[in-house]
Amino acid sequence: MIDFVEVNESIRLEDYGKVTFLSKAVSELKEKAGALVPSLKGRTIWMINSTAQGGGVAEMLPKLISLCCDLGLDVRWAVIGADQKAFFSLTKNIHNLIHDSGKINLGEKEREIYESVNRKNADALKPHLKPGDVLVVHDPQPMALGHMLKAEMDIHAIWRCHIGVAADTDRTRHAWEFLAPYADRYEQTVFTATEYVPGYLHEKFRIIHPAIDPLNHKNRDLEPVKMTGILCNSRLAKAHQPVLTPLFDHPVQRMDTDGSFAPAINSHEIGLMYRPIVTQVSRWDRLKGFLPLLQGFAEMKRRAGERPESEWESDRHKRRMDIVRLVLAGPDPDSIQDDPEGIEVVEELKDVYTSLSEPLQRDIAILALPMASRKENALIVNVLQRASSLVVQNSLQEGFGLTATEAMWKRKPVLASDATGLREQIDDDVDGCINHHVEDVDGMADQLESILQSPLHRERLAKNAQRKVYGKFLVFTQVAAWLQTMRDVVEGRS
Ligand code: UDP
Repeated sequence: MIDFVEVNESIRLEDYGKVTFLSKAVSELKEKAGALVPSLKGRTIWMINSTAQGGGVAEMLPKLISLCCDLGLDVRWAVIGADQKAFFSLTKNIHNLIHDSGKINLGEKEREIYESVNRKNADALKPHLKPGDVLVVHDPQPMALGHMLKAEMDIHAIWRCHIGVAADTDRTRHAWEFLAPYADRYEQTVFTATEYVPGYLHEKFRIIHPAIDPLNHKNRDLEPVKMTGILCNSRLAKAHQPVLTPLFDHPVQRMDTDGSFAPAINSHEIGLMYRPIVTQVSRWDRLKGFLPLLQGFAEMKRRAGERPESEWESDRHKRRMDIVRLVLAGPDPDSIQDDPEGIEVVEELKDVYTSLSEPLQRDIAILALPMASRKENALIVNVLQRASSLVVQNSLQEGFGLTATEAMWKRKPVLASDATGLREQIDDDVDGCINHHVEDVDGMADQLESILQSPLHRERLAKNAQRKVYGKFLVFTQVAAWLQTMRDVVEGRS
């Protein structure tokens, strides 16, 4: 019923400490841990969620667990299972409802299934717990389990909700009402943004932001020769000279003029590492705002093409507008066949892309990134973000938006929408720019050009962005926040 997952992270805290630009963050974490860890000694911290693989939570937990262990804590990871298939479809519906979609159908039958699966998992976990242990329960699926065990044992319990949307609708209320009976006994709850907290938890929540790992394949520094290697290995660029590393098993594919996908290298080269590039990397989700970004970029190019000679501010800017290109990248559609909305979004982009003029088609690259190897996918995302002059995250809705964090860490200026998660990260015109008119094509065209026009402005935003991530959104800050929260809970501090 319940699975215990071993964590084998290869990069340990001491490895981070040896990296010059991380050593200060690591020593600050160690110093904080020195004060907080003693209250947690002798206890086991239990991370409890519903999947060991796939999804942001499963991706983030191993690093969090391994760093806490390096700081002297005993942390274990338990994944709940279900003997009734209906459990995961009903918890998926709770997830959707919290995001203001899904069906309003949570009734007594659903509660029975939800509680019976949680009861069985609670019974399976119980013999492993000892008094004083701390349960950190992630997301709605196992929420009732913490509530049950807290009533039966002398333990502590914290609920971490990774999801949410800034909305108060019939749907969101329906989901939160369903979960309300399981909230009382938790001593603390943790959310990503204040806007996501339901009314009944307003007296009992903290904010802990998601965070990135600066040394994983998605974020680690890449030497120019390494970047060239990845571009060639993934077939994003032609190898004009021999490169050391072998071709990736699966090439990056690019949408062709007829809307089909073919290896990116078969068509005109994109010009990564040569041209100014504007990039958005996301899942193919309508809420990610790919289409208005494409239209805004096309509009910017059209206007520039028609601008009279006398109206250009400088030759440099004219040339910039002439050669700048847009990259829209997401997972290979073949890998998301179970996501009909994703396929639809690719189809919508295809309809617009195939109707563009040939020069615009050349200036816009819609890329399907291979998903077979997580490492290769991460390296490709890394290189695309690093090869960009501007990274955009044009989401209509965004829980947090790690793609923005990743780009900011790489010292890139980011143009983000005003979705809640992105506003948690970006102060407008300080460490990025906020676009308040996500679906307004003219506004997007103006804002793209205005950011591209000033390299000094971009450099200032980019430097501030990196500093912001260093201080707030690296995994060390996240670990420190967790230590603080757990210490406060075991000592009964609010
Ligand atoms: N991502 C990726 N490959 C892709 C598209 C996205 O690795 O083809 C990654 C992206 O780099 C980021 C994550 O998926 O780390 C998306 O997280 P985010 O918080 O931006 O949005 P979500 O997908 O969770 O809504």
